[in-house]
Amino acid sequence: MYLVARCPSCGRLMMANTANKTRACPHCAHRAELVGLRVLGRAKTIQEAVALIQSLKEQQGDAEWEPRFKKFKA
Ligand SMILES: [Zn+2]
Repeated sequence: MYLVARCPSCGRLMMANTANKTRACPHCAHRAELVGLRVLGRAKTIQEAVALIQSLKEQQGDAEWEPRFKKFKA
């Protein structure tokens, strides 16, 4: 099973295999514990997870979300 979640550090979308306890963000290399992530979706296969990320990006606009996240942190 795969999770799709937001990186708690940079706010970008990432996927994680639930067989692991932690996942390093591919964008900022932050290592997050899966139990602490805000899960946006679940998928059975990696292909499903990739498709889910694509549709979430289209819905939410990955590039637009990031500056707001930084503002929120500061
Ligand atoms: Zn990140």
